[in-house]
Amino acid sequence: MNKKILLFAAVAVVGAGAAGIAATMDKEPDNPFLQDYTTVYEIPPFDQIKTEHYLPALKAGIAKQEDEILKICDNTETPTFDNTVVAFENAAETLNKVVLVFAALEESNSSPEMVAVAEEFYPLYSESQDAIMMNDKLFERFKYLYDHRNDMGMAPDQIRAVETYYKNFVRAGALLDEAQKQELKNFNTDLTNLYLQFNKNLLNATNAFSIVIENPERLSGLPANTVAVAAEEAQKRGLGEGKWVFTLHAPSRLPVLQYANDRDLREQMYKGYTTQASSGEYNNLPVINKILQTRAKKAALLGFDCYGSYMTDNVMAKTVANAENLLMQIWTPAVAKVKEEVKEMQALADREGAGITIQPWDYYYYAEKVRADKYNMDENELRAYFAVDSVRNGIFNMAGRLYGVKFTEMPDAPKYFDEVTVYDVTDAKTNEHIAVFMTDYFTRPSKRQGAWMSEFKGSWTNPDGTSSRPVIFNVGNFTPPTADMPSLLSIDEVETMFHEFGHGLHGMLSRARLKSQAGTNVDRDFVELPSQIHEHWAFQPELLRTYAHHYKTGETIPEELIEKIQASSKHNSGFRTAELVGAALLDLQYGKLNPTGDVDVMAFEDSVRNAIGMPAELTYRYRSPYFKHIFGSDGYASGYYTYLWAEVLDTDGFELFEEKGIFDTETAASFKKNILEAGGSEDPMALYVRFRGHQPSVDALLRNRGLAE
Ligand SMILES: [Zn+2]
Repeated sequence: MNKKILLFAAVAVVGAGAAGIAATMDKEPDNPFLQDYTTVYEIPPFDQIKTEHYLPALKAGIAKQEDEILKICDNTETPTFDNTVVAFENAAETLNKVVLVFAALEESNSSPEMVAVAEEFYPLYSESQDAIMMNDKLFERFKYLYDHRNDMGMAPDQIRAVETYYKNFVRAGALLDEAQKQELKNFNTDLTNLYLQFNKNLLNATNAFSIVIENPERLSGLPANTVAVAAEEAQKRGLGEGKWVFTLHAPSRLPVLQYANDRDLREQMYKGYTTQASSGEYNNLPVINKILQTRAKKAALLGFDCYGSYMTDNVMAKTVANAENLLMQIWTPAVAKVKEEVKEMQALADREGAGITIQPWDYYYYAEKVRADKYNMDENELRAYFAVDSVRNGIFNMAGRLYGVKFTEMPDAPKYFDEVTVYDVTDAKTNEHIAVFMTDYFTRPSKRQGAWMSEFKGSWTNPDGTSSRPVIFNVGNFTPPTADMPSLLSIDEVETMFHEFGHGLHGMLSRARLKSQAGTNVDRDFVELPSQIHEHWAFQPELLRTYAHHYKTGETIPEELIEKIQASSKHNSGFRTAELVGAALLDLQYGKLNPTGDVDVMAFEDSVRNAIGMPAELTYRYRSPYFKHIFGSDGYASGYYTYLWAEVLDTDGFELFEEKGIFDTETAASFKKNILEAGGSEDPMALYVRFRGHQPSVDALLRNRGLAE
């Protein structure tokens, strides 16, 4: 569900050691990345791009940028915004072209050849990134602008850009002396290797666990396709007929927890999952300890009191305490809700004469029973109204009514895969071209899991007034259509399409002048606002009636089904909220640690559990040895809370639409201007308040999750 975040640092790279390849460009007359694109709207000429073009283009892009940055550094004129910041952003133009295409296709249309290129491509690329952030001469010019930012006649977005760049340089070690810089580089290298180790252990531990079943009675309750896949898995492992293998992978684990009538089987699966990578050959506990210690040292070197402070310093939350305060406001009502849910499940178990007390491995199972009991909802009956093309009409209808944009298919536009559909996005009134939008929705072996949004070309306005409009894409992993059946989406998948399209609108409608502030180049706890808020439209009856038509009969979705969708939307919300908030709180406690020696990780988890009063019937959404978000990279370290932070904004923001009308033109115009068009050109809270009229509180989130009094 994530937007693929290309950090802007990625777009602003200077080459170290690239001198030897400075002449590469002249030798590549046929490399499409090194020519101006002559295609419509400068969509990359995919039919001309070959795997062998990437590395030479990357090297040429790095060399070109190094050249341009040398010119900036050697400029004898006093630094100005244009001769430093704008010049710096423009220096990456060629590099950008190749990086955006490569990063996109390596994920959505990969091959062994692309993987081989990636292994050379990314180290080269990140080395050049590191070098730019420690370039003293360049930093001096940014520092000059930073020191004089209020007396040079800069516009507010320019001042903000200078402040952001200055901060990024400092956070990357620009103020350190040479010895300290070396120390920082070592910490970064250590962390990169520790993350690799963590991920490798986790992958191996996950794959090492399996449950083999020989007695078919134990399969009672499981969906037929889960059983079929388990039998196939047994065959694959050479175990022969009459055996079934279940694994920790979600498509195997979740049906067991949700539907297996055999309680021991559920317990075995639950314990296998929650103890993975915590002992034996693939033990992540020592790795976690090294990560915590290295992070603490890195934070101290950069002048922060703990790693959590370092990670929250440059986002909306600003401090760990602010994030924690928000989470605790959600935690307390979530726990109360969990207690109600457990009571309800216990009553159902008692009615059935199960003779048990609800344990963590019973939660999923009885939650499903209660769902069936209360709402009588059949997912397959629903899917028939959500064919991919219908839902895509739904997102386009929504955008048309809210923001006055029109989507027209461009059948002859360049595309990187047959199934991709390309649209010209225009102003419905003036026909002005706004963006190109591509959808690539179906799963295939060459695509990684998940759904995301990114761009092939950004948007910006040059100092002379000329501008670039963006080329944006959405990628999904929905079931491909067959000869006689279109791709039919589940409720979750419909929501995913609206979510990624929300990120897409953020990119398409951007009017920020600077490349580094355009579209989704915003704080990491703000970026999910445009995506999550658009999920709210997906199941609004008024919109549903315009797009949810039965794929065979064309019949509009019946009111009775609309009511079921709405009634069941808050089911199990206590559990879903508490396991998420619990994990986010655990993550923040790790960020506050400054360990000098080894921590007993499991005891630490328990102490956090006790401190926050976690109900015995559940645990953290991820326990530490498999909490990949926070130990598999820096990505969400001291940042797992960001999903909830953005949810506070999106639920509070959507309530304004509910008050004024979900298609109220004035409210939509204000959201477009203040949030979608502004990108990162202003402080996110200032933008939000201008749209909403007040600072957000947690109340709307609690109402939306069914946790309010
Ligand atoms: Zn997202």
